[in-house]
Formats: sequence, C-alpha cells, structure tokens
Amino acid sequence: MAEQILDRIKQVVGPNGWLEQASDIEPYEIETRGLYRGKTALVVRPRSTEEVAAVVRLCAEAGLSIVPQGGNTGLCGGGVPSGDGRNIVLALGRMNKVRAIDPANFTITGEAGVVLADIQRIAAENDRLFPLSLGAEGSCQIGGNLSTNAGGVQVLRYGNTRELTLGLEVVLADGRIWNGLRTLRKDNTGYDLKQLFVGAEGTLGIITAATLRLFPKPRETVTALLALPDFDAVMQLFAEARAVTGDQLTAFELIERTGLDMALKHVNGITDPLNQPYEIYALVEVSTASPHGDAAAPLEELLEAALEAGTVVDGTIAASAAQRDAFWRIREGIVEGQRFEGGSIKHDIAVPVASVADFLKRAIAAVTERQPGIRPVAFGHCGDGNIHFNLSQPVGADKDAFLARWEEFNNIVHGIVAEFNGTISAEHGVGRLKRDELTHYKAPLELELMARVKKALDPRDIMNPGKVIAEVAFNALKAE
Ligand SMILES: Cc1cc2nc3c(=O)[nH]c(=O)nc-3n(C[C@H](O)[C@H](O)[C@H](O)COP(=O)(O)OP(=O)(O)OC[C@H]3O[C@@H](n4cnc5c(N)ncnc54)[C@H](O)[C@@H]3O)c2cc1C
Repeated sequence: MAEQILDRIKQVVGPNGWLEQASDIEPYEIETRGLYRGKTALVVRPRSTEEVAAVVRLCAEAGLSIVPQGGNTGLCGGGVPSGDGRNIVLALGRMNKVRAIDPANFTITGEAGVVLADIQRIAAENDRLFPLSLGAEGSCQIGGNLSTNAGGVQVLRYGNTRELTLGLEVVLADGRIWNGLRTLRKDNTGYDLKQLFVGAEGTLGIITAATLRLFPKPRETVTALLALPDFDAVMQLFAEARAVTGDQLTAFELIERTGLDMALKHVNGITDPLNQPYEIYALVEVSTASPHGDAAAPLEELLEAALEAGTVVDGTIAASAAQRDAFWRIREGIVEGQRFEGGSIKHDIAVPVASVADFLKRAIAAVTERQPGIRPVAFGHCGDGNIHFNLSQPVGADKDAFLARWEEFNNIVHGIVAEFNGTISAEHGVGRLKRDELTHYKAPLELELMARVKKALDPRDIMNPGKVIAEVAFNALKAE
C-alpha cells in the first residue's frame, strides 16, 4: 500500500519532483546542529499549490505523515522527520515564484519557497522595504518564516512575521486549498484564520503562498555602537532612544564582552570596536524613509545626552557603510565564535522589555552560582525583550559532561523566565526540542485549546505529527 502511494505521489510531481536515494535525502533528514536525525520514505518537491494539494490528498488517504520543510534553518527539530520513516518530507524550495508585487498597495505575494533575501531584494528593487531580516535570510524561506513567526533585528519597529502577514494560501490536511490571499489592512469578518497557521510549525497545514506587507524604503540609516556601564543602563538607553528618535528606532541589540571576545578570537575580520574594551554594548540603529528626514541628528542628540547622564560611557557612530557592516559583523559573529569554545547550552527566551535587565542579573547570578566558571553569553534583540542566553562551558571543562546538564540549566533559566512572565521560545519555535517542556510553562487550558485546534484542522494527525503539541496535551480530549 505504502509503495503504491509513493508511486502515485511521484507521478503527481513528475520526475524532478522527488528524491529517494539515501545520499540525496540525507540533508532533509538532519537538523542543522545534528540534534535530530530522522528517516523519510521520500522527499517530495512540488512546483505548484495544486501539486501540494494532490500530494496531501494521497497522504491523507494512506494515513502517511507529512513533514513540511523550508530552508531547514530551524534549530528545534520541527522541520525534520521522526525516526520511523512512515512519512514524506514536503520540501517547498521549488515553489519560489513571486506572484505579484504591488508597490501602490505596499504588498508582495510570494510562494512559500521564496528565500527571504529574495523577497527583500525584490521589494527594494520596487522602492519598498520588506523589513524581516535575520542571520539565516540567505537560506530560510518565507514559508518557514511564517511557520515559526520569525522576528529578527527590526521587530521593535515593524513587528514579527505575524504582523507582516496580510493573507495566506494554505493546503489543509484533507488536501483542500484555502485561498486567503487577501491584501486588506482591515477585515473584521470573524476569526482571523491566517493567524492559526502562522507559528504553527507545519502542524495544521501547508502554507503555499503569502501576501506580505511592505513599507517605504529607508533613505537614511545611521548606526551606533555604544558602551554602557551595566544592564540597567542598557534598558534606560532603550527607553530614551525610543523617546528621542520617535518612531525611527529600528534596531537595538545587546552585545556583551564574553561573546565579543569569542568573536574576536575565532571569526575573521572582527575588531574591537572602541579604543578600549568594555563589558556591555548596545548596537543602535535609526532610520528614516522621509526624503526630508534626518536619522543622524536624533542619534547624536541621544548619544550626547546619554554620555552626560552616564548611561553611555563611550561610543561611536558609524562613519561609513563599511563601519556599519563591521558593527553588525560583531553581532553576527558571536554565534560563530561561541562554537569554538566548547559546549554551549542555549536559551532563546523573551521577557517583557521592562524586565530584561532584571532577568539578566538574576539569570547570570543563578547559573554562576550553580556552576562557577560557566560563561554566560547574553546577546540579541533586547529592544523587543528577546535575548539569546547561551551558556558556554567553563574553560577546560569536559564538553559532554557539561552538555549532559542541558536540562538542569534549562530548568534554572526557564524558571526565572517564568517568574518574569516570559516565554521559553522566542525565535526558533517549539518543534521537538521544547514540546514536552512547554507543558510546564503553558496553562493546561491553553494546551487543551491548542490540542483542540489541532484536532479540528488535522483530525488524523498527519501534519508534522509529534511536533509542538505534547501527547499529554491531547489527554483532556481523550474522554470525548
Ligand atoms: C543564523 C540564524 C539566525 C536566526 N535569527 C533569528 C532571529 O533573529 N529572529 C527569529 O525570530 N528567528 C531567527 N532564526 C530562526 C529563523 O527564524 C528560522 O530558522 C526560520 O524562520 C525558519 O525558516 P526555514 O525556511 O529554514 O524553515 P525550516 O527550518 O525548514 O522549518 C521550520 C518549521 O516550519 C515548518 N515549515 C516550513 N515551511 C513550511 C510551510 N511552507 N508550511 C508549513 N510549515 C512549514 C517546518 O515543518 C518546521 O516545523 C535564526 C536562525 C538562524 C539559523
């Protein structure tokens, strides 16, 4: 039966639409960091929504699971199959057409497999901005961005993918196509169904296309790298930056010494940004789309006042595009640098913006008390409360022994996150990595509602099963 279904799927997508040689399908079976390695019967690469729908109908008929996959940059095992091989991977990469761009309506409609950097480029060519911007933008796809509600460096000004989405086209678990590709800013006709699929990590349906919001293209962008005395000053500066620059603050990133030192040591082309080393920095970016606007003046005003008040102790405003790129390379080099410093236990959390400084102080003290010599590397989008709180092993410690304590340190950090009413996943999603842990941090009613939505849209559980929703969440429904 399974063989027959696979043959029929192959016929639907044609000779270039599938892979089954072990060496061809292996990259689709492995999560980037190698934390998860699964098995699949077939990698299916459709070219159109109709092909996706026909494939889903066949899978529904046979009860075969479907694992949607975009650029496979997610780091929580959401896009890779489980171990039993009774599934297909549905790779959206060949559905990579931009169907329409409407500069007058400030919208772009693209298929799920369009790479994020291509959407940005096409928007820019039309004098528009698609503001979603993140480290993986050269390989992640818009369908994956939608399915993980990606954020990135400009969330504080433009919002997450959720806020950037006006309409979706989705293939449902029974193979029907829902065309919700609307271009409206306002539509008060009941439930906002598209939002169910954003952030669902492929557990409710296959996103095949999206209509996204565009913005006026910035005419001027000014970037500063500032040194600050402590975490309280960082968040004080953030509040002042919002006030002084009005709506022009575009990015506000935290960088601290431990991460910077790792980047300086291991990543080519990174230099210490100021004349002397400091413990804490903020990368601040202001931009204006107005031809009469001035992004430099408010940033200079902010810097002057902050230096006088002691919120900032040193800093520089990028004098050229090359210097601006150099600042951003530091921010991006932290992740790479950390890889060479042994085991790293990761936390991708968010707390309310007003609690960022207190969270950092509490969490650093708690992990250092548990393991003297541990090296917390905190960095990220503190302007929207989303911090990467990674813990590098003590110098010279045994890597495996350190990584074996992953859960122990997760419990400490996530416990503090919960006290601040934060979230244990603010970027990569839940996938398999945080599926069970989520049950400790979400109210039973919320878990039950999620399970009910899943049951309603995918009653046979063929859409990316085993991801996001833990088995225990379905228990409340079992008696019915
Ligand atoms: C270097 C780096 C930097 C990053 N920085 C940020 C950041 O600053 N902010 C942030 O929020 N995130 C960040 N991320 C996470 C990033 O947002 C996700 O990795 C990305 O959005 C996933 O896109 P993808 O195409 O690779 O999806 P995949 O990894 O292939 O899939 C992700 C999930 O979506 C599902 N999926 C994929 N396509 C579809 C579809 N068409 N329909 C239904 N389900 C689908 C998959 O099944 C899986 O569950 C970063 C990741 C990396 C590697």
